[in-house]
Amino acid sequence: MSPLPVPRAELVVDLAAVRHNVRVLSEHCGVAMMTVVKADGYGHGMVEVARAAREAGSTWLGVATLDEALALRAAGDTGRVLCWLTAPGEDYGPAIAAGVDLTAYSLAELAEVEAAVRRIGTPARLQLKIDTGLSRGGATPADWPALVEAARAGEVAGHWRVTGIWSHLVASDEPDHPANDSQERVFREALAVAEAAGLRPEVRHLANSAAAVLRPSVRFDLVRCGLASYGLDPAPGHLPDLGLVPAMTARATLAMVKDVEAGAGVSYGHTWVADRATTLGLVPVGYGDGVLRSASGTASVGIAGRQRPVRGRVCMDQLVVDLDGDRPEPGSEVVLFGTGRDGAPTAQDWAEAAGTISYEVVTRIGGGRMVRTH
Ligand code: PLP
Repeated sequence: MSPLPVPRAELVVDLAAVRHNVRVLSEHCGVAMMTVVKADGYGHGMVEVARAAREAGSTWLGVATLDEALALRAAGDTGRVLCWLTAPGEDYGPAIAAGVDLTAYSLAELAEVEAAVRRIGTPARLQLKIDTGLSRGGATPADWPALVEAARAGEVAGHWRVTGIWSHLVASDEPDHPANDSQERVFREALAVAEAAGLRPEVRHLANSAAAVLRPSVRFDLVRCGLASYGLDPAPGHLPDLGLVPAMTARATLAMVKDVEAGAGVSYGHTWVADRATTLGLVPVGYGDGVLRSASGTASVGIAGRQRPVRGRVCMDQLVVDLDGDRPEPGSEVVLFGTGRDGAPTAQDWAEAAGTISYEVVTRIGGGRMVRTH
């Protein structure tokens, strides 16, 4: 098969935008930066984004899984990396040997880390997580004193160094949500308990992107910024304009243009029927590429600087847009979403059309089969 002159569909990731966003956020917050690069860098490419973030001064990288942390090491990253999600029985050894900071929530995890440390003969870097209200991972406030005591004992025994204490917020995108105040209070109490037990962590951290920007009191020693590093707004309607630049543009090549009469039904189930004669454009991407099917009939794409509505259902490999009588050439560029500067929609526009969040828009499309270039 001969290659197309341009890809059928591609994601173009602007690493200069990532560097810019990381610098802007660092200057705004005035504390150390952890760029969160889990889920393949929110679909932008974990390794490439990690390099860009380091170049922009990100001291830390944040990932969910041990595999992600080890993939960063395999790509040559030697800086501080925090990993926060493991399952019972996972082998901590390679990550400890690679100098990854692990997170522990429970006495059972401490026991597993200790076993791995004894096996490989290298002390671990360990961060403790308290559940301040999200009811996901983290020791409950009731279990916290016992976790802290055991962690301190392990530190004294030389099994690890407790490098951090942290938690995660429930509703940082809603500045008036009561959980923000209560979580900050519980976190400060947990820090006091840890200090009384003799722990002196390098970093205490609570804020993700929205809190990093909106709530100076929770910046502590570092902020963990994911979405904002990719130039997307984590709290639409609340953030000041920091000049963040969306890093991902999703684009495709217009495959076909055709005329239809009034009354023509479009795509599976005929959920849209032309109310007038019009021209339709075929865009060769669909939910198999990570385009959200839930944006059927509600999203738009940009063609030649104008937004064109998606008509009918998004299919597995294609979708149909209404060109409203215009006839752009097949082969014309279609911008599904991008910076928003060229009149095309943004990932946030797609999120609103699909009734979801821009996190899902970029991670889904980045996990699809579109060619990604940096
Ligand atoms: N910290 C943790 C523990 C996370 O799971 C995430 C992402 O979900 C982040 C920070 C970054 O959040 P955001 O993308 O809102 O900045």
